[in-house]
Amino acid sequence: MKFKCKDVGMNCDFEIKNVSNENEAMEIAKVHAKYAHNISEITPDLAEKVKKAIK
Ligand SMILES: [Zn+2]
Repeated sequence: MKFKCKDVGMNCDFEIKNVSNENEAMEIAKVHAKYAHNISEITPDLAEKVKKAIK
């Protein structure tokens, strides 16, 4: 599975690759959002966007 930060509207080149499932991608995205974008809490809205962007 893959996730690109750009796909949720961020001006960011961060990519998650080679993760085996959606939950793993979500966990990595959460950590990235916290440290790179200062998003300490993923809102249900954002979580939904991220899930849709994970392919
Ligand atoms: Zn990012």
